[in-house]
Amino acid sequence: MSKVVVDPITCIGCSTCTLVDPDTFVMDQTEFKAVVKQQPEKITEVVKAAVDSCPVGAISITD
Ligand code: SF4
Repeated sequence: MSKVVVDPITCIGCSTCTLVDPDTFVMDQTEFKAVVKQQPEKITEVVKAAVDSCPVGAISITD
């Protein structure tokens, strides 16, 4: 099953992904990085939009 992964080293904490797909991503208020709140059941267009919205390419989808 595909899995969404945020690279905490690359993430600059801009919050964009959490605004585009708040069901999947949430900000870690301590680290100021996005984390996966809940793995999506499938990779929807919204999830893809969140991946594409990341300005630094920190989000990837693994097989
Ligand atoms: S859009 Fe990218 S850089 Fe911004 S919070 Fe999400 S993972 Fe981090």
